[in-house]
Amino acid sequence: MRVCLCILALAISLGAAPSPPAETLRGRLVIAAGHTPALVTADGTEVKLDGDPDTRKILDDPRLSGFEVDARGHYTSSDRFAIDPIHTRAILAHRDGKLMLITYFCELCNIRAWTPGPCACCQRETTLELRDPDEK
Ligand SMILES: [Zn+2]
Repeated sequence: MRVCLCILALAISLGAAPSPPAETLRGRLVIAAGHTPALVTADGTEVKLDGDPDTRKILDDPRLSGFEVDARGHYTSSDRFAIDPIHTRAILAHRDGKLMLITYFCELCNIRAWTPGPCACCQRETTLELRDPDEK
């Protein structure tokens, strides 16, 4: 019975929050101090980016500026785009014609993170590493 209730609750919560249909935005990241993180599409349109706190950490990483990315999410206004939650891997970087996961790696501890910042273990700054999603 408990399982049934959970499924019911899930069905209700999914139905109660209709979000706009997801779409994928492709373009070049522009990340600079004092500038809202943005993506410039092929036709030169600048779209401001937003997302959950972890996604915003990625959008604050100047090392990613200039990267060509695919971002999945939805427009919240005509020039603003909210990227889907980080656990859905909604932002991917193009490299050599492939879409790569954006990861942060500590070689010392062999720990990989999804957001920039100090290593959770040794506190050293992690290295930005694009990773082939098919790689095991
Ligand atoms: Zn470490």
